[in-house]
Amino acid sequence: MSNYKIGTKCVQSGYTPSNGEPRQIPIVQSTTFKYSTSEDMGKLFDLEAEGYFYTRLQNPTNDAVAAKIAAMEGGTAAMLTSSGQAANFFALFNICQCGDHIVASSSIYGGTFNLISVTMAKMGITTTFVSPDASEEELNAAFRPNTKAMFGETIANPALTVLDIELFAKVAHAHGVPLIVDNTFPTPVNCRPIEWGADIVTHSTTKYMDGHGAAVGGAIVDSGNFDWMAHADKYPGLCTPDESYHGITYAEKFGKEGAFITKCTSQLMRDLGSIQSPQNAFILNLGLESLHVRMPKHVENGQAVAEFLYNHPKVAYVNYSGLPSDKYYERAKKYLPNGGCGVVSFGLKGGREAASVFMRTLKLGAIETHVADARTCCLNPATSTHRQMNDEQLKEAGVPAELIRISLGIEDKEDLIADISNALDAIK
Ligand SMILES: *Cc1c(COP(=O)(O)O)cnc(C)c1O
Repeated sequence: MSNYKIGTKCVQSGYTPSNGEPRQIPIVQSTTFKYSTSEDMGKLFDLEAEGYFYTRLQNPTNDAVAAKIAAMEGGTAAMLTSSGQAANFFALFNICQCGDHIVASSSIYGGTFNLISVTMAKMGITTTFVSPDASEEELNAAFRPNTKAMFGETIANPALTVLDIELFAKVAHAHGVPLIVDNTFPTPVNCRPIEWGADIVTHSTTKYMDGHGAAVGGAIVDSGNFDWMAHADKYPGLCTPDESYHGITYAEKFGKEGAFITKCTSQLMRDLGSIQSPQNAFILNLGLESLHVRMPKHVENGQAVAEFLYNHPKVAYVNYSGLPSDKYYERAKKYLPNGGCGVVSFGLKGGREAASVFMRTLKLGAIETHVADARTCCLNPATSTHRQMNDEQLKEAGVPAELIRISLGIEDKEDLIADISNALDAIK
């Protein structure tokens, strides 16, 4: 499948039925799997043979969908998790332990920011945040001897900054650590971070990949490029024997291509159990089958609405990397030549009150704590997700009171613009 283009991979990768088998990926709705002898099963527990024994660790439906996502991203192995939060936690915790350190872009999803700055800090893993626009020198200065991973988002939710993946990868590699990139917003249809040097790619599949607001999920993809053994002192979990699996060493037994995902499955899924349900994996796959058809439509609508807002007298500013006026326009041309996504954020001159009138008046754009859906939706962080902050704190957090994040769906853009125009007219 590796030579096919992205659309063909969206439709066909990951599962190839043989003679007389179901055409669609079967939902293996079974917690467990049957074996003829204890010896057969023992081989699975020793990681000596491949196979399934318990759906808390692995399930054939999930693996088929994960294999598709691996093919789409150009990786060598992948796994599904119960959510995007679980994907980012597992990707980091698979190589970081108490006493370790992470360098992360400060422009990331609020849930991920909280995960690493609060919850993982309680586990003894500290993080230095860097600007997505930091220079090579500034990025280098954030590293410490105990740094084990670098992290960023291709297009950040909700700030819509664009990551300089090539630069981040260069700096990470100079310090002997992998770059982990959350590629949720562009999806592999619009950007494949591995092609720019990222080592591990994560997803909230809840967003465009599912695309229909139907199933929460996450995914982790390994590029197979990072040489763990070359940095064995940093990664004892991958490069020294795991006593819970009869002393196998992941990086030796499964190589660069398979060590990361095998360890993540056999240790973290085993112990923490954040598996995606096979039902949700099936729903996710239906979304993936049309991802390459939907993404250009999201981009088309995002671009049209961003341009309309930019030219409207009641709008103070618009963030969208497809606008020539945007700070990230040039960087987006490099990493996102076909466009980024359908999420646009903007501020109204009338502030918080105007935002409230605007959102109340929209008919097609529903108020939701969600993005990247086939249906247009919007959110004013100041009155919802960031409600506890005062105007001063909101400004500091990069989400000023008047900011509206609108996620353009795949409806007809003329109707979306008419709806938005009408809601702007309602502001007195
Ligand atoms: C939503 C989101 C997450 C978290 O994903 P869930 O599936 O909601 O757990 C992580 N990263 C990004 C960029 C997101 O947009």
